[in-house]
Amino acid sequence: MLDLPLVNLYFPLQYGLGTVVAATKSSASLPQVGDEYDFYRSFPGFQEFCETQGDTMLHCMSQIMKYHGCRAQMRDRNKLTGLEERYDLVVDANDVILEKVGILLDDTAGVNRSQQPVMPAGFQPPKIVVSSWNRKGGDSGSSSETFRLLHAKNITRPQLKFREKVDNSNTPFVPKIFIKPNAMKSLPSYFTNKQIRKERPEDLDVPAALADFIHQQRTQEHVEDMFAHPYQYELDHLVFSENQLSKPEPQMYKPLAETKCSFIDNVEDLVAVNEKLTKTTEFAVDLEHHSYRSFLGITCLMQISTREEDFIIDTLDLRSEMYILNEAFTDPNIVKVFHGADSDIEWLQKDLGLYIVNMFDTHQASRVLNLGRHSLDHLLKQFCNVDSDKRYQLADWRIRPLPEEMLHYARADTHYLLYVYDRLRVDLWEMGNGQPALLQTVWQKSKDISLKKYMKPLFTENSYMDLLRKQKKAFNTQQLAAFRLLYGWRDKLARQEDESTGYVLPNHMMIKISEVLPKEPQGIIACCNPVPPLVRQQVNELHLLVQQAREMPLLKVRDPEMPLFGPHDTSRVPESEFPSFSPKGKLFTNNVLCLVLLVLKDKDTVKDSGHLTVAQQKAYIIVDSFQNPFRMYLPSTEIHISKNAKFDPSTKIYEAKQSYQESLQNVSTVRQQASVSRFYFSSTAFTFSYLDCFNRICYLPFHQESTNTGAKKRERVASGTGESNPKPNKKLMKAADKQEECIPPAVFKPFDYSQSDFKVFAGTQPHALVHNLFVNDILLHLHTRPSFFCGEINAFLMF
Ligand code: AMP
Ligand code: MN
Ligand code: ZN
Repeated sequence: MLDLPLVNLYFPLQYGLGTVVAATKSSASLPQVGDEYDFYRSFPGFQEFCETQGDTMLHCMSQIMKYHGCRAQMRDRNKLTGLEERYDLVVDANDVILEKVGILLDDTAGVNRSQQPVMPAGFQPPKIVVSSWNRKGGDSGSSSETFRLLHAKNITRPQLKFREKVDNSNTPFVPKIFIKPNAMKSLPSYFTNKQIRKERPEDLDVPAALADFIHQQRTQEHVEDMFAHPYQYELDHLVFSENQLSKPEPQMYKPLAETKCSFIDNVEDLVAVNEKLTKTTEFAVDLEHHSYRSFLGITCLMQISTREEDFIIDTLDLRSEMYILNEAFTDPNIVKVFHGADSDIEWLQKDLGLYIVNMFDTHQASRVLNLGRHSLDHLLKQFCNVDSDKRYQLADWRIRPLPEEMLHYARADTHYLLYVYDRLRVDLWEMGNGQPALLQTVWQKSKDISLKKYMKPLFTENSYMDLLRKQKKAFNTQQLAAFRLLYGWRDKLARQEDESTGYVLPNHMMIKISEVLPKEPQGIIACCNPVPPLVRQQVNELHLLVQQAREMPLLKVRDPEMPLFGPHDTSRVPESEFPSFSPKGKLFTNNVLCLVLLVLKDKDTVKDSGHLTVAQQKAYIIVDSFQNPFRMYLPSTEIHISKNAKFDPSTKIYEAKQSYQESLQNVSTVRQQASVSRFYFSSTAFTFSYLDCFNRICYLPFHQESTNTGAKKRERVASGTGESNPKPNKKLMKAADKQEECIPPAVFKPFDYSQSDFKVFAGTQPHALVHNLFVNDILLHLHTRPSFFCGEINAFLMF
């Protein structure tokens, strides 16, 4: 006998399957295109029937697709470019629906696909549905996209309730302190002056670039104070008391059952806690943090234990008031005990504006004692015989009200810590043969951790390389470009939506997409399992980025350890794999690919090929056939702005890109692009230009073209003697020697480095990167430079 639920499930399934089979059969028996179809179509009745039936079906499909939050312009013929796009829409929708089915089946089978945070059995998260945190209401057009965001986890975003908006902008972190208790050196005026601090230029009704400028002007004189550790001076002058450096008498912890535990979620109680703390000589502190659904992470909970009682403070509710505790936290006469405080110190600064003066880190003590394992559970087991349950460590600490199990877990993190602190100090004393040296080491190490400053993750044009290097992937130029573009997209979206980069697009998926370079949007979806909501929402944007990457000239990069490489660095590519850039490529032997930079006497004569010598003509063809080797390091020529992502934290770069793009419109050759990129870099305060770079590296003088004024002035770079120059590279010298064989020596005086501003090559700015690439390439191949382009050509470079 079948039981009832199964029957209920079985009948609709069988019915549905029957319908699908019948429909497939009917569609297969329809007259085929190129066969009877064309004949039947000549009858108006048939045509009309087909059209009405077709419209009904498309309408039906649109409704289903809309219901599932997919793009669904099936019937709107104006928006369709053809059958192919319609087909894509259907494939997309099928994928979405099948995935949902898969998730539901997995759920039914008890398979946990989405690595949900651990929640206590029976716990019901509040049924609050929140969309993107900062999207303005009433935004038109994107109803299906907003709908999709509703599928996000049903936990209220605590950010919504923060009094001070989270600052995800691509600017360095500025301490959140405005009162400084226990100060030996008073707080700089920048922090006490409300007007400078509070009035954020981005809140003014001015263009972003102007807001940046205003901000810069306002903060210029405060820069040093703004980025210093507010308690640096106090920590530098911290003296450890005699008590701290002697053997203690361990004081047993109170049993949990006999200890009062208070949950603190209002200011009055917080003030009372602070008063209690200031009367102690030591207390233990721990934090719980959430980092998945926020760009910078959120401190959700603070646990404090004194010898007498435990406090669990809701740092989501009291985020703006937590600074009150600085009175106890920075009091040098009160010891604060942490376990593994490295992150805690940063989180305290980032979210709560709290600092620690006089800390003891039990993790550091455990290391100095060589206990083998340094985790808190290990210490608790060893000293308190407590089996701690670390299951909740990765729980979603944003949940409110906090379930009993999680409160219990959180409390255990600090409840025993003061006793552990006592026991560790005894061991340190004894291991140090009754001398305070080891204790001193731990106090010192703990102090160093207190001195740590929170650093906001900043996006730079080459931060993607840092991540890539860690992945040890050997990417070709297209894959590298895709990775760079995806990385930028992800960073921007994560800041804008206040989500972690891992939530927007996990590293392994980003790498997979870059590796595969999918031709279709569907291929991007296929690289991700499960598909992150924002990837699904913006799959078309991502597809455009991948397409852009696919337009790069394809070159292999062999050595993933090589941190810098240029696309024309052929040292790691066998000759058989050279791309044929030029029909005259055979002119260049010995694995040498030549890039000839033509700086001709008069730009206009170049256009008139009748006036060119054979060498010039050859060189000109080659130069024009080249792709700009630095194209992938330059801003995109196809700037794609997401409908949903108009806000860009790095506004200056964005604006420069726009003007750069405009200027690029009629540009095609390397030489022209070099001029444009000079404009680009100078417009963004980077003094780099290709021509400058050539000159600096190769000791070659050249004739600078005054590209912006149009007054085709030629100026020879002033050259000095070699004596005052920095020690030249041997290879460079060798090359310079060879060069003299074919070019009149008068032209090739060494470049005067004393007049160069080497500061422009410092740091990690884009110009430095490009410069490094250049030097890298040139050094690798200079020794094999061919020398047939002499005479008319003033400068040439070999790769
Ligand atoms: P704990 O000091 O062990 O209570 O951990 C404090 C916070 O650090 C937790 O709330 C987590 O956000 C984070 N955390 C701890 N351990 C891990 C881990 N293994 N992986 C990722 N995050 C962790
Ligand atoms: Mn901790
Ligand atoms: Zn903890």
